[in-house]
Amino acid sequence: MGTHVVRCQACGEDIAGEIRHLGAENVEALHCSSCPRVLLLKTPGVPERFGIARPSTGRYAPEFQPYLRQLLPFYAKVEALFAPCVCGGRYGYMNPPRCPKCNGLLRGDCYGDKPIAKVTDGYALVTTAAVHDEDQLSPAARAAMAK
Ligand SMILES: [Zn+2]
Ligand SMILES: [Zn+2]
Repeated sequence: MGTHVVRCQACGEDIAGEIRHLGAENVEALHCSSCPRVLLLKTPGVPERFGIARPSTGRYAPEFQPYLRQLLPFYAKVEALFAPCVCGGRYGYMNPPRCPKCNGLLRGDCYGDKPIAKVTDGYALVTTAAVHDEDQLSPAARAAMAK
């Protein structure tokens, strides 16, 4: 953790946030589709508890697809466990981070449709608020977990 400043690619303002080193902290960042909030997902954790298998990302894995697109169905299953953001948006692996000043794309379309860009991203900047995986589970997911 620590403070970090990035220049927003949309508005040009310098934006400060708390830097999270995803690999070192064993978390994944799912940004909201329509506001600067970010969901931090501990790994291993929620996906494993729900029996959602993570595809191998090895180059010679049988499921290998260009840009690690074999991860997209995994991402979709994990994202479906979470309730919408308080703003009404959805948390998703492939959503690029948004700027707390202009709500534009802070780092541009930094993932495109290429999961490999997400996997190798390495950090997330928490500019507004982080929500934690278990707090954000949908009512249905909570009920399933209680069984
Ligand atoms: Zn901005
Ligand atoms: Zn939101």
